[in-house]
Amino acid sequence: MHSIKEILSDEFIGKQVTVHGWVYRTRSSGKIAFVVLRDSSGIVQSVANISTLGDEKFKVISSLGIESSVELQGTVKKDDRAITGYEIEVTGYKVYQRNESFPITKDKGEEFLLDNRHLWLRSQEFSAVLKVRSTVFKAFADFFYSEGYYQVQAPFMVSTATEGGTTLFKVPFFGSEVSLTQSAQFYLETMIFSLEKVFTISPSFRAEKSRTWRHLTEYWHGEAEVAWVDNSGMMDIEERMIHFIIRRVLEENLPELAILGRDAGDLRRWTEPFLRMTYSDLIKGAQETGMNIRYGDDLGSDEEKQIMIHYDRPVFVTHYPKELKTFYHRPDPENPGELLCHDLLAPEGYGEIIGGSERIWDPEQLKERMEEYKLNPEDYYWYMDLRKYGSVPHSGFGLGLDRAIMWICKLDNIKNAIPFPRTIRRTKP
Ligand code: ATP
Ligand code: MG
Repeated sequence: MHSIKEILSDEFIGKQVTVHGWVYRTRSSGKIAFVVLRDSSGIVQSVANISTLGDEKFKVISSLGIESSVELQGTVKKDDRAITGYEIEVTGYKVYQRNESFPITKDKGEEFLLDNRHLWLRSQEFSAVLKVRSTVFKAFADFFYSEGYYQVQAPFMVSTATEGGTTLFKVPFFGSEVSLTQSAQFYLETMIFSLEKVFTISPSFRAEKSRTWRHLTEYWHGEAEVAWVDNSGMMDIEERMIHFIIRRVLEENLPELAILGRDAGDLRRWTEPFLRMTYSDLIKGAQETGMNIRYGDDLGSDEEKQIMIHYDRPVFVTHYPKELKTFYHRPDPENPGELLCHDLLAPEGYGEIIGGSERIWDPEQLKERMEEYKLNPEDYYWYMDLRKYGSVPHSGFGLGLDRAIMWICKLDNIKNAIPFPRTIRRTKP
């Protein structure tokens, strides 16, 4: 048994092979049939001859519908006219399942494809996204292991909000209620006191009521927290991490990038240093492009899209006004109205993929900020305790993995970066 990718090589010319897969397309002229087969590794053309197979067997193979599952036996030939340069001359086959037709055809609309996501996953485009996705998840973990971090896990059912009450999902819990986690951050913060450098990959849940091209209600979150690191040190780590992921994708996924229409040259540019600027300078720059925006305005999907269309590499934006972010980011001691925080905005209009900061580590300051946000420090007693017993300067971040994949794969909607998107209107399939 061979994979299709394996046999697409001069070494296999003249050899007898057996491959498994699904019918990608067929064409028959009565005496000769071309069956293009795909498996997870690639596609290959095969040619079936009535003179080799006999009438009966030829009739079956030449009328297989798309996505029928088969095993083919045959000899490999080089043929420049074949779709991937080689061809299998079929000597025998076995049909596992014969389909008359496949529901997905070219002219289907977006909703239809979402209803049939379980089948659409087989498309070349989606398989390519899934492969890049696999690389990105692994690279994220590999990067942190290579820098001496520990992988940890936090609970998904929680009773402490990190990102405010408006996007919390409530779940019944033995006569009371819990929420689904919005971020593992607070739990990661507890673990730096034993491990110093920790990371996790887990889903985060946000009841996002506005439908945008970059929000899911359940998304995959790569997060890290690290002791003794300040805001700019944190950005250094994140920049190395993104460079590491991009290099991995370049090593492993050139064919997939080509299928997706993403130029590998774009990725090479993102392995160079990122830009860094303050929120205030970003706003000034945006005003110079004619955008109607003022210092203090929040940057949502649309604003970031308009701004980032002008950049060809990622930009760290620091020092947001404190009104724009939640309570745990550390105010800049030189200018307490602004925070020692950063968002990493992806170029080409993609916008925020990371939110991170230096965390407040002084107990009094944390209490003050919570009061400004009308939060009860008692509800956060365990988070406050971290500031009471051996508190240390520390920083952390969260990367939206689906957003990063959308950007790397040049997709126009985050729903196409995850196999089964969950949005306000969709929980099926
Ligand atoms: P946004 O402003 O785009 O709503 P956020 O500032 O609320 O994002 P953070 O709380 O900073 O997001 O979360 C960290 C990261 O998680 C974000 O930078 C983003 O990449 C990702 N993220 C946040 N919300 C979502 C979502 N609803 N769907 C997908 N990814 C998300
Ligand atoms: Mg953010």
